[in-house]
Amino acid sequence: MTSILIASNNAHKLQEFQEIFLQFGAPEVALLTPASQGIDLAPEETAETYLANARIKARAFHEVLRRQERLRPDTWVMADDSGLEVAALDGAPGIRSARYHKAAPGGDGCAALLQEMTSVPDVRRSARFRAVIVFIGPDGHEYDFEGVCEGSIGKEKRGAGGFGFDPVFRMPEDGRHMAELSSREKHRLSHRGIAAQKVIAFLKSQGV
Ligand code: IMP
Repeated sequence: MTSILIASNNAHKLQEFQEIFLQFGAPEVALLTPASQGIDLAPEETAETYLANARIKARAFHEVLRRQERLRPDTWVMADDSGLEVAALDGAPGIRSARYHKAAPGGDGCAALLQEMTSVPDVRRSARFRAVIVFIGPDGHEYDFEGVCEGSIGKEKRGAGGFGFDPVFRMPEDGRHMAELSSREKHRLSHRGIAAQKVIAFLKSQGV
């Protein structure tokens, strides 16, 4: 059975990937988490692009498996790096999105963003989520996949689903905030869902 180690310690992302692989029909794939494999690793994301940061994470976990001689011919490693790009903030917080939350008072990045954008009018509130997945094959080959979700920043927090900036991210389809979508709806439309659907299509094209 094909197994994929998800190179992330972010519980929200791990859960989303599990749900996405179920939703988009990759039942033959076992998703492994670092904790389930006894791997305690948190590589520093020191690069300046999503792709380079995702590579740092994927390569670090791949290397651990290789050193421990646990790389089987059907073992893949997958890492994603993602963020929110706000047009009125020149694309910030972007690759620094996780750090934006950490630096915000009370860790509430949504409140901090709403505050930072108080005087930005509706027409200038466009934003997008971006995710880049790096996927390393059993033979060490690397593949990358990108997903983008266009929307805007609302005027208040709404909804209780998702994580991160979901409560302030307004979907263009019907104006609901991402945190108001069901997880199935989010995965169909979100940056991570779109990138992961490309991974699943790729695996299928490889006969997995
Ligand atoms: P990283 O990819 O772990 O470096 O961090 C991504 C950061 O971007 C998260 O901490 C969130 O702030 C934000 N982010 C990424 N994806 C999402 C999402 O699906 N919903 C809300 N926020 C997200």
